[in-house]
Amino acid sequence: MNAPTLNRRTIILSAVAGASSTLIPDLGGFRSANAQTASSSSGNAGHYRFRVGEISATVLSDGVIGGPPRVYASNAPEAELQEVLRHAFLPTDHMTLNLNTLLIETSGRRILVEAGAGKTMGPNGGRIFDNLAAIGLGAADIDAVVVSHTHPDHVGNLRTADGGKAFPRATVFVPKSDWNFFVRTDPDLSYMPVPEDFRVRFAAAIKNSLQPVTNEVELYEAGAEIVPGLTTIVASGHTPGMATFLVHSGNDQLLLTADLAYHPVVNVDRPWLPGPDRDKETAFASRRRIFDRAATDRIPVLGFHFPFPGLGRMLKTDGGYAWVPANWQF
Ligand SMILES: [Zn+2]
Repeated sequence: MNAPTLNRRTIILSAVAGASSTLIPDLGGFRSANAQTASSSSGNAGHYRFRVGEISATVLSDGVIGGPPRVYASNAPEAELQEVLRHAFLPTDHMTLNLNTLLIETSGRRILVEAGAGKTMGPNGGRIFDNLAAIGLGAADIDAVVVSHTHPDHVGNLRTADGGKAFPRATVFVPKSDWNFFVRTDPDLSYMPVPEDFRVRFAAAIKNSLQPVTNEVELYEAGAEIVPGLTTIVASGHTPGMATFLVHSGNDQLLLTADLAYHPVVNVDRPWLPGPDRDKETAFASRRRIFDRAATDRIPVLGFHFPFPGLGRMLKTDGGYAWVPANWQF
């Protein structure tokens, strides 16, 4: 590895200049859109198949988003945050978050859990359609899309570039409380630790993404079973209506944590609270209740924003939890 001898700026400039994609990013890797694009040209998988009992499940990556680590660990002491990131070999000035949507196929229906970001939160989302194609499917093959909450990184792909329905046959399920808060009103987002222009774009991206499905959206209350084998779980706090999901078949289960945690390093292995949580106390209580269930019942977990494919388990520790990634299955 010669990369550590290069500084980050050298690498970014090289990537921008179209230098060889064999150049290994430094520990701050994948900093820029160009670096990210270069890395994807190596053709690594963006889909991952497994089973939950009789249900066929596939994680489909929509790519990545990211931002300053502080946004995702709002109450972390600065020195400790820096140390945790360094110990995890992560950049200290930028955190990359994956977008792990889940396709489940059960009883002849194809249901996409989370729509992904598209380009609403940066240039590195929107890969879900390529990853669907890679498993032989197109957007028209999706019967339903179920979102945990309406932040842009979960609904961004619902709208095509020309304003149409990106999944033309799909019924779209959205938590009712989120619809009321983000779509029916102009929400006060001053709790989000981001610049005002970001908040304005964020709020607009939600309304814009959901506009094509306005007339036919199915609003659900967390706790409802969407189809047999896919149950929603109350997990409010991050947003008014956020749900998490339990996929179940026979004795097998998979627990999806939606945005109870952004990155395991700061929100599982450490108890820090994401800045975008609207009601931090309620969000933290939801996180503990659902993480406890995962740890106690040893349920496999899928983290929407965790490193791809985002599968693993929660381990209960003396002070909290630890994330244990699952072994890759061929
Ligand atoms: Zn999210």
